[in-house]
Amino acid sequence: WMHAVNATGAGSSGWTAAILASIVIGSVTLTGSVVAVLKLKGNIGDSRNNRLWHSVTLVTLIAAVTGAVLFATSGSTSPLALAALVGLCLLLGIGLVQPIGGADMPVVVALLNAYSGLAGAATGFVLGNQGLIITGSLVGASGLILTAIMCKAMNRSLPNVLFGGVLGGSDSKASQQDEGEFYDGKVKYATPDDLALLLDGARKVVMVPGYGLAVAQAQHAVKELANQLEGRGAKVSYAIHPVAGRMPGHMNVLLAEAEIPYDQLKDMDAINPELPQADVAIVLGANDVVNPAAAEDPNSPIFGMPILDVHKAKTVVVVKRSLSAGFAGIPNGLFIRDNSLMVKGDAKEVLQATTSAIKEL
Ligand code: NDP
Repeated sequence: WMHAVNATGAGSSGWTAAILASIVIGSVTLTGSVVAVLKLKGNIGDSRNNRLWHSVTLVTLIAAVTGAVLFATSGSTSPLALAALVGLCLLLGIGLVQPIGGADMPVVVALLNAYSGLAGAATGFVLGNQGLIITGSLVGASGLILTAIMCKAMNRSLPNVLFGGVLGGSDSKASQQDEGEFYDGKVKYATPDDLALLLDGARKVVMVPGYGLAVAQAQHAVKELANQLEGRGAKVSYAIHPVAGRMPGHMNVLLAEAEIPYDQLKDMDAINPELPQADVAIVLGANDVVNPAAAEDPNSPIFGMPILDVHKAKTVVVVKRSLSAGFAGIPNGLFIRDNSLMVKGDAKEVLQATTSAIKEL
């Protein structure tokens, strides 16, 4: 310890700042991560009382900053004062993460990941450990870049994610009841055999993978269907939304695993102008990223998020197991559009059944 202290210029203002940074960021990261885990496991729900939590956060933040300033100016290293500061920062971590909605958790997880790197780097300065400084900075910087990419793809600012409204969870009874009324009798169902017939005459087909494709592990099944269609002269491409799935690049990795040629993967900006010419767009376990409310309904919680314009294709076929909502927990008007059909089922099973049906045509 003494060696490290001598090597790092103990008592200097930079050293004190590093201690403070590692205490504040480290403590916030610890409790923030615990709250994030509990939320993702569903052990604690989304807090609808944002104001209360924001007030708690503000008071704790003011107290923590005051404590930190006192610590820095007095140069006191009293263990009691340090313990009090750690306690406040632990509380701050809870207050910061608790009011954030379930749909925003992946962004928060990326941010907490960045914080853990920054805390490590700050501790590296305290201990004079260059390895810790370098690795911590790398983790911190990559986490911040990932956070920025996610926010940009959702067309949200970071303050909006951290302090904005709650995007609800999908499994509350009330929201399921609302959905039942929303879709009441208006969804047109089709079978894999119907889909095979539709695809038989299609020249341009766009596959739209989402989180459900990953859940079903249907990446090989989609490639097999695409092979059949290409054998019949159709042009197949894959529309990639930047936040489809649960992390940026999720769909790219999934499709690469099935060795789907990279040039068939089209980013949102490239595929959207092509979608009106598509004979069939097949939505495979995607939901929020194809929800037209994001473009059309200013009251929707996802309004402003760019989407894949699958509703503009001649026919759009939605493959999913039920009418349940996606990650953002909101109904999807795509399912009841005039040009929309739904094939209910697990993405892999539906794709395999469709491929078998097409082979028999
Ligand atoms: P969604 O979470 O909106 O929807 C996935 C759908 O897949 C569900 O509605 C579910 O419906 C269906 N599904 C689940 N299992 C299966 C299965 N076995 N077979 C077929 N369907 C299945 O996914 P998207 O990819 O459209 O959107 C991603 C969401 O994650 C967005 O809200 C985005 O903002 C959010 N997000 C993503 C980030 C990222 O970096 N990628 C970061 C932050 C947030 P059902 O249960 O009826 O089958």
